[in-house]
Amino acid sequence: MGILFMHNCVLCGEAIPAEDGSKAMICAACAREVREQYRCTEPIRVPGMDGCAAALYYTGKVKQAMHRFKFNHKQHYADWFAAQALPLLAERLEDWKPDLITYMPIGFVHLHKRGYNQAELLAKPVAAAFGLPCRATMRKRPFTPTQSEQKDFAARQKNAARALLPMGNVDLSGQSVVLVDDIITTGSMAAAAADVLRKMGAEHVYLLAPAKTPRRL
Ligand SMILES: [Zn+2]
Repeated sequence: MGILFMHNCVLCGEAIPAEDGSKAMICAACAREVREQYRCTEPIRVPGMDGCAAALYYTGKVKQAMHRFKFNHKQHYADWFAAQALPLLAERLEDWKPDLITYMPIGFVHLHKRGYNQAELLAKPVAAAFGLPCRATMRKRPFTPTQSEQKDFAARQKNAARALLPMGNVDLSGQSVVLVDDIITTGSMAAAAADVLRKMGAEHVYLLAPAKTPRRL
């Protein structure tokens, strides 16, 4: 026995002494908070999606960690966030019967600046856990304004409908496709993605994310 290496809690940054074999990515206190406060429990509906699931509420420490994952090069957080979403897919496997895992594309400017697509990093371990293929199916139209710049729901819908393009060489005929995204916010981009994937032939489309913004009360 003994401390082999230390790493930091994904959620609070505290050092975790990792004893032999322990692969915990969050500390015990944060694990309790996740169980008690952060589990997303509400039903999620997005137009065009046959089903949706999100693991955690995008708030507090989860929100801060997601920001570090997306903007501060904490790519290894993908393993923890993906692990939160895995049980959701496991529970739905019989129902969703996925043939393929895909992910929300990001624009090339973001990809170039960031160096990675966070949704792709999340999708890969999810696909690997179930022995499913993971591939890109869509791309972002260049120079698409961000959803957060849109002033209302109608504007977001219109922007989203223009934003996603199918990859020409991908045929999804008859397939059940699970789209992985980082955060479910208004769902307008996911709805647009469902539309594109169905036009590419997908028979069923589902949405899986590690986080969702809490519904405003
Ligand atoms: Zn912690």
